[in-house]
Amino acid sequence: MVGLATGAGAVGRGVEIGPLRTSLPTNGGPVLDRLINALAARVARGEPCAIVWDIDGTIVDTRRRMLAAIHAYGRTDISLEQLCDTAPHTDDVVRDFGLDAQRFMKVWERVFWDASTFGTDRPIPEVVDRMRRAASLGIRNIVLTGRNAELRAASASYLQRNGIPFTTLLCKERGQGTVAHKVEQLGRLAANGLHLGAFVTDAGREIAGIQAVRGASALPCVIVAGRGRPIADGAGITAHVLPVALCLSAIAGKRRA
Ligand SMILES: [Mg+2]
Repeated sequence: MVGLATGAGAVGRGVEIGPLRTSLPTNGGPVLDRLINALAARVARGEPCAIVWDIDGTIVDTRRRMLAAIHAYGRTDISLEQLCDTAPHTDDVVRDFGLDAQRFMKVWERVFWDASTFGTDRPIPEVVDRMRRAASLGIRNIVLTGRNAELRAASASYLQRNGIPFTTLLCKERGQGTVAHKVEQLGRLAANGLHLGAFVTDAGREIAGIQAVRGASALPCVIVAGRGRPIADGAGITAHVLPVALCLSAIAGKRRA
């Protein structure tokens, strides 16, 4: 994601929350609903169908783990409401809050990926409700994540505990790039005769990588976005934005004051 506020004025006070800025269509919700209906019709005809979902920033809001990393780094002045995306990117956090990149990344690696804290993630209703509906219609929910394989058990446990239905959970091997991993796995799934109805993620770079290989029309893509985040339009991706609500009350209060 890309934070809204840049430049010297943003350092130390975080990002400013505003309306979702994108030139992409923001009809990701209705588009996904229509795709689910179309897949249900295929399933009824006996065709195996799936939707592929990312986890971090897509199924779950990971801001609390990012905030734990920021606090462990020493910036306890920063609050949850200053993180305006479902999964803030480390590059943006470093820039927006003026952190030392090398030192922060060491802390982030240790704190953010501590599986014992996965329980602090919050399911994103706009996504999870659609996963549940898809599952109820016989559509397979394939979770395709950039999390490393050693986090698979903790990830599956989280999804199960929170009643998030999935048929497959695909993690990557340590050292493999997330985009390459997702491109490869999507190709493998399609080659196995599964009809893939949609790919849902919060990362424009993943969509860019997939569309560079498969073309823009092969697989409908939906990009989950918290309010206040511009989408990476510059990447030339074709996608529908699904805006999701985040807790903005503290920022809104400050702005009114
Ligand atoms: Mg993600």
